[in-house]
Amino acid sequence: MYQSMKGMLAKANAEGYAVMAINAFNLETARGVIKAAEVNAPIIIVLLQDHVMSFFDCDILTKPIVKMAEQSPVPVAINLDHGHDIAHLKRCLHEGFSSVMCDASAYDAEENARITRSVVELAQIYGASVEAEVGNMGCAEGADAHFTDDVMYTDPDVAIDFIKKTGIDALAVSYGSTHGDYPEGYVPTFHFDIVEKIKAATGAALVLHGGSGAGDDNMRRSVEAGINKINVGTDYMIAQREFVARSPAENPGYDYPTLVQDSWKAGIDTIKHYIEISGSTGKAR
Ligand SMILES: [Zn+2]
Repeated sequence: MYQSMKGMLAKANAEGYAVMAINAFNLETARGVIKAAEVNAPIIIVLLQDHVMSFFDCDILTKPIVKMAEQSPVPVAINLDHGHDIAHLKRCLHEGFSSVMCDASAYDAEENARITRSVVELAQIYGASVEAEVGNMGCAEGADAHFTDDVMYTDPDVAIDFIKKTGIDALAVSYGSTHGDYPEGYVPTFHFDIVEKIKAATGAALVLHGGSGAGDDNMRRSVEAGINKINVGTDYMIAQREFVARSPAENPGYDYPTLVQDSWKAGIDTIKHYIEISGSTGKAR
């Protein structure tokens, strides 16, 4: 069944677990996310705006994924991930996204709140939910790779004021995670007090981004501190990339359509592991 994140995260918040939000970018990867959740867990398909704008745009991609969501026995939401181009974000709402992340975190808190509030008002017309971000996470990959450091952490007082001003459904909090793949053996240090303080003051649904490689213990403790949505992209992609890299060598007769079709299946166990950690197994109803 197709839903917005609104009711899904409110339930997670009330019952003290997190819903997994997994990055997809085409029909195959979206199908993998839904299939992994059919262990009776709610699930969020996150479509990174940069991917949507570069690969299949929202006018092509949205309706078939909505159809797959409608046909699923578990609650499925589609959330635009890191929507920094507001004109494109509006197109995604128009095409049927049930949820959008308005990422104006590059601006100062006041401008971030002003832009986010305008998106909240627009999303209400579509019955869609809105996630936003205060603070700014680093990215472990690419030309300007850097870990999240102290100055990039979310200031709890700014976040509390932001939630009250904007009326958002969920807030992404920067408290130690970084987007992308960490170096082998590296486990980030999380500052759970930031999450706990915002939760205590607002009761809002809070979000962990950059969940890949954060470590199972950090994730469990995040949920205990008040996280209700965990974003994982990199680990799902790595599982599929490794499958695609090794399979033709192991089986030279592997035809390309079957390889593509099988690659999303190679990522399912990764997602199932995270669903278990998040506490959302059995929470589809
Ligand atoms: Zn993110």
